Amino acid sequence: MNIVSDPKSIPASSILSAEANQAAALATATGVLTVDLDAIVANWRKLEKAAVPAECAAVIKADAYGCGVDPVARALAAAGCKTFFVATVDEARAARAAMPSATIYALDGIFQNCGDAFAKIDCKPVIGDLNELAEWDVFCRRSGWAGGAAIHIDTGMNRLGLTINEAQGIVPRINAGDHGITLVMSHLACAEALNHPLNAKQLATFREIVSLFTGVPASLSNSSGIFLSPQFQFDLVRPGAALYGINPTPEADNPMQPVVDLKARIVRIRNVERGDSVGYGGTWTARRPTRLAIVSAGYADGYFRAAGSNDGTRGAEVVVAGKRCPIAGRVSMDLIAVDITDLEKNAVRRGHMATLIGEGITVDELAHHFGTIGYEVLTSLGPRYARVYKGGAATVEPAASAST
Ligand SMILES: *Cc1c(COP(=O)(O)O)cnc(C)c1O
Repeated sequence: MNIVSDPKSIPASSILSAEANQAAALATATGVLTVDLDAIVANWRKLEKAAVPAECAAVIKADAYGCGVDPVARALAAAGCKTFFVATVDEARAARAAMPSATIYALDGIFQNCGDAFAKIDCKPVIGDLNELAEWDVFCRRSGWAGGAAIHIDTGMNRLGLTINEAQGIVPRINAGDHGITLVMSHLACAEALNHPLNAKQLATFREIVSLFTGVPASLSNSSGIFLSPQFQFDLVRPGAALYGINPTPEADNPMQPVVDLKARIVRIRNVERGDSVGYGGTWTARRPTRLAIVSAGYADGYFRAAGSNDGTRGAEVVVAGKRCPIAGRVSMDLIAVDITDLEKNAVRRGHMATLIGEGITVDELAHHFGTIGYEVLTSLGPRYARVYKGGAATVEPAASAST
């Protein structure tokens, strides 16, 4: 097992060895986030298989959905993934440091006078605006850079991308050759809803426009799009969420493996009387003599307040000593109280870990209690957790200077 402690929460010591540092980090950690790199790779392989003959890329924006861009990128590159998407050029820099030879696209595109930052690390901007395209062309002409860019076309999301008219306007450039466009893409707004009418509409619009972009690879599908039908797969698919274990088919069972396990330390066990209230606001009242485990994770760690309970409403559950136990009262900044009255008396002690994600509690289940989606659960995972990586590539790409 390969342990990487969060540098923000654990100051690196030059006195202790790396192993001692890792052991010390785990001994003092109040929360431990374990990311299963083998599960991420297995999920990528499954998506790749589902999308054949299309290429399967990987979306690793937002620190690989909170899982850690460096280890995730290395594991996927070693597994054979060749194309990666991040949101910003800063994220691309981190991805490039992990993968000297991958193709990296930045979804948010480029601002004026930022061309050098992209060229320096061989990052391709995803261009979704005509002015942006003109600025990129000026940069390429002046610098001689020919690293390529993607064109994003809007087909109904109304977020990023050229309008259909604008896209038709650059068709002569595509036909003239030497256009510097390496990918044409669009993004689905409702792919997780199998029968949403916007899916078919976006597909038809995209098909029509890409038929004019002869010879340029096309890409439409995110994780959920891959499962709509093979027609949505085109030349390249761009899964993110499904790689990290989020269900891409919410209307059916999750075909992906769980990736994230989150445990937090029990820092106090206490007994309260019937009629005592627990936590801020006193919104939860013990209906019987109650034993509580106070667990050291809270909303500052990305465990949302919405998961708390009160006398009228049940909140989320936490696994303690192998059993699901309900949260008692509100979620604090650093702590949650868990009702462990139904556990065997000696099943759990102060210092033991409680499981917040894992042992049957999925990211999607927690998202339901948080009033959000799995994406926000993962990207909210806090900096106080020690990060532990399981599995991963036996061979790691050598650290090399950015290729050009
Ligand atoms: C985030 C993103 C993806 C990945 O979406 P998932 O639903 O996480 O698979 C793909 N394409 C674009 C344009 C994105 O912004």
